[in-house]
Amino acid sequence: MGGRVKNPPLPEFMNLKMRANDNIPHLNPTFHFPDIVILVVIMDFTFTPEQEAFRQEVRSFLEDEIKKGTFRPMCDAWIQGFSWEFTKKVAAKGWLGITWPKEYGGLGRSQVDRLILTEEMLRYGAPAACHWFAERQIGRAIYTYGTEEQKQELLPKILRGEVCIGLGMSEPEAGSDLAALKTKAVEDGDFYVINGQKMWTSCARYMTHIYLVARTDPAAPKQKGISEFIIDCKLPGITIRPIIDITGSEAWGEVFFDDVHVPKKYLIGEKNCGFYQILNQLDYERSGMERLMGNYPLFEALIKFCKETRRHGKPVYEDPLVRSRLAQLEVEFEVGRMLLYRVVQVMEKGKAPNVEAAIAKPFCTTWEQHLASVATDILGLYGQLWKESEYAPLIGMAPHSFLASKGYSLQAGTNEILKGIVAARGLGMPAIT
Ligand SMILES: Cc1cc2nc3c(=O)[nH]c(=O)nc-3n(C[C@H](O)[C@H](O)[C@H](O)COP(=O)(O)OP(=O)(O)OC[C@H]3O[C@@H](n4cnc5c(N)ncnc54)[C@H](O)[C@@H]3O)c2cc1C
Repeated sequence: MGGRVKNPPLPEFMNLKMRANDNIPHLNPTFHFPDIVILVVIMDFTFTPEQEAFRQEVRSFLEDEIKKGTFRPMCDAWIQGFSWEFTKKVAAKGWLGITWPKEYGGLGRSQVDRLILTEEMLRYGAPAACHWFAERQIGRAIYTYGTEEQKQELLPKILRGEVCIGLGMSEPEAGSDLAALKTKAVEDGDFYVINGQKMWTSCARYMTHIYLVARTDPAAPKQKGISEFIIDCKLPGITIRPIIDITGSEAWGEVFFDDVHVPKKYLIGEKNCGFYQILNQLDYERSGMERLMGNYPLFEALIKFCKETRRHGKPVYEDPLVRSRLAQLEVEFEVGRMLLYRVVQVMEKGKAPNVEAAIAKPFCTTWEQHLASVATDILGLYGQLWKESEYAPLIGMAPHSFLASKGYSLQAGTNEILKGIVAARGLGMPAIT
């Protein structure tokens, strides 16, 4: 073996502490062997006292709201739980846009604070769908690419929890290949006239606005003729039809545009550069804690069920297979969590989490599918009953998750597409044309 293996750079896990401890003799950070250098680090993932205090504040708020009856914890609440009342309360706490720059009304707080906030929202299954998308990615797009007028008009509405913005990207024949989209936006005086159809638009029935990607130059190469708009759903010519998914949810919809006249001032960013803008947004869309913890209420309830339930005269937790499968879930959950923390680390440095998000999302959504399978197995036949049945254990969360989780590895980029990103940009393999 020739040469030394290069010392890898020490990751700084956000402002969480991670240090090489050279005070402890047997844990000196580097041991030098003839041919290799082995790096030993103590990874201390504790949060700062301020961060812990913030977590407690969020927990107390959520527990109070549950006691007041504002919501009942549910799976997929970040994407299917629509409660304007809850969103307004979160806004009143100042927790919408906490990482946004102060000049745009945000609190300019760290990505770690947002991580803590979202982790707790998901842990408690809080109904955050009215504001999740706008807070997560649309606000950022507006303050990054928008005009001053757009910032003044739209950002305060997001921060006050007054608008719900759906994501209008996919079309019947443009999913993974988003650049194949056909919805057209044609200039006409002070307007763009929109014609076409969007598919799987999140929040469709509830949204006040849609963030639309449309073709503005049909003659240009497909990635180069696309622009982004923010559109008020009250404009004439917009028809929304719910998509009833495999779980019976109507959280998504088809949106039809029939000669919709959108004032030109609602073009976001540069005309014909929308595809590159949206790629950046997608990194934020696919990389949050919601890709791991959307069904966390089921995980917690399942563990409690196993601790408290007796079957055939014995506690369920005594079954070695049950113990092993739950332990395996816990191991995978912690790995997924670390992958998502790494995403936050990258964002904290002001970079878009591209490869990191592409690594984390397939792993984490696969974990959610695994959780749903384990829950279904452990709960047995009763576990297949829907929440409407009085006999459904864990208020029917298992069958919901089992069916809903099939879509997790499609939405916001399929596993195949994301692994392609990891191969090309993570491993530097030449792209396949
Ligand atoms: C629950 C759910 C919610 C969604 N929410 C939204 C939303 O809010 N807004 C929105 O705009 N869209 C949304 N989508 C749409 C989602 O982004 C698309 O479903 C996704 O991009 C895949 O596109 P497609 O369904 O057209 O499948 P296709 O692109 O036709 O893919 C079909 C299969 O082929 C594979 N494939 C395609 N291209 C390649 C390739 N180059 N290499 C290898 N394999 C490939 C895919 O991985 C997939 O398995 C949602 C979808 C679901 C299921």
